Amino acid sequence: MKTTALITNDQVQKQDLEESEALSLLSSTQSIIKEAIQKLGFSSDMYELLKEPLRILTVRIPVRMDDGSYQIFTGYRSQHNDSVGPTKGGVRFHPEVTEEEVKALSIWMSLKCGITNLPYGGGKGGIICDPRNMSFGELERLSRGYVRAISQIVGPTKDIPAPDVYTNSQIMAWMMDEFSCLREFDSPGFITGKPIVLGGSQGRETATARGVVISIEEAAKKRGIDLQGARIVIQGFGNAGSFLAKFMHETGAKVIGISDAYGALYDPEGLNIDYLLDRRDSFGTVTNLFTNVITNQELLVKECDILVPAAISNQITAQNAHDIKASIVVEAANGPTTLEATKILDERGILLVPDILASAGGVIVSYFEWVQNNQGYYWSEEEVAEKLRKIMVDSFKTIYETSQAHQVDMRLAAYMVGIRKPAEASRFRGWV
Ligand code: NAD
Repeated sequence: MKTTALITNDQVQKQDLEESEALSLLSSTQSIIKEAIQKLGFSSDMYELLKEPLRILTVRIPVRMDDGSYQIFTGYRSQHNDSVGPTKGGVRFHPEVTEEEVKALSIWMSLKCGITNLPYGGGKGGIICDPRNMSFGELERLSRGYVRAISQIVGPTKDIPAPDVYTNSQIMAWMMDEFSCLREFDSPGFITGKPIVLGGSQGRETATARGVVISIEEAAKKRGIDLQGARIVIQGFGNAGSFLAKFMHETGAKVIGISDAYGALYDPEGLNIDYLLDRRDSFGTVTNLFTNVITNQELLVKECDILVPAAISNQITAQNAHDIKASIVVEAANGPTTLEATKILDERGILLVPDILASAGGVIVSYFEWVQNNQGYYWSEEEVAEKLRKIMVDSFKTIYETSQAHQVDMRLAAYMVGIRKPAEASRFRGWV
């Protein structure tokens, strides 16, 4: 058996910080929901219903490690509101997962599904672990154990998981196989983000980045920015950030900055994106190959036209919002900008496209995957791209017009559009 490592003071402080950051994510989400609900004229009972998930399950998952020892992992599945339809949302494998964060993320999924008019409520899952230090076999046993632990509350018509930070199509495949074994039938619609041969959709892997590109195009039109030669900085070089860098580079924009968890690369003349894509590892790490690395915080305040945080939450804060040089900020990551920073950017006239709109491409194509699984008939990549574009453009238009009509920032406008559907569905069901 492995001996349990002693927890140092530094680790305790880091844990406290993570918990308080997650709490602030949840409380700032709740305060915008409250404002949106008031503006829409719903009662305060509606706020009481929607401010927290309806259901959250905490599970402990024993996993046999490769050295013969056992480790018990903690995981969560949160279901915010299922008045519209089954809940839907990714599963995150990360050492900094907390219950509060999973709750907030599940609320955002309800908002995303509301904005894009998908027949779902929001769900989210997470396991506290560091997949970068786990073998393939350990990850497979953890993924299967998680599905066994949450199997009672998930399923193709109840709650449909998907990939998120540090989870991928292989992990979805193991999870689907475990669920199929438990239920004794093939259930491709139980989970999305699967490999194509197991019922995955064309275009799923690149969907989030495609949706961010469409958001950038629409925002650039509003600000009269020509994307040919426009200077773009992207924080994060994982699924969302690296495909975004590739697509923006292909459209003729100049990607002048990228980063990962270990640092950032910046070149005002434009980075060699093909080289970086070729060299990045499966966790989105590439800066470890270079010596001229700057910090993530330095990158965010560099001169550029468009800034895309595509890594983790709480990156643009009251401390650095005054120094952001971009005229457009498009949030590919979930929760990268704090509430105070949102206000500062708005006052400075910077157009911020909020996460629940900009990063909705992933859940839209996940929905397409589920539809294809249910009907057993599969679409071409072109068909998927065309349908995705229509939903993103329409959603951007609705939110931009709402922000103009109500004289509110794009984030509050997005919350107003997103919360209306679960609120109306809950009212029709007679819940409040
Ligand atoms: P990923 O795991 O593929 O990549 C994460 C990237 O962020 C990596 O480059 C990693 O090095 C970097 N990173 C990790 N910790 C960091 C830190 N402390 N500072 C700076 N960089 C750090 O994840 P992803 O799927 O690309 O997701 C990125 C963000 O986009 C997340 O906030 C996620 O919730 C959001 N998102 C992703 C999808 C999707 O379909 N992939 C959909 C919606 C939203």
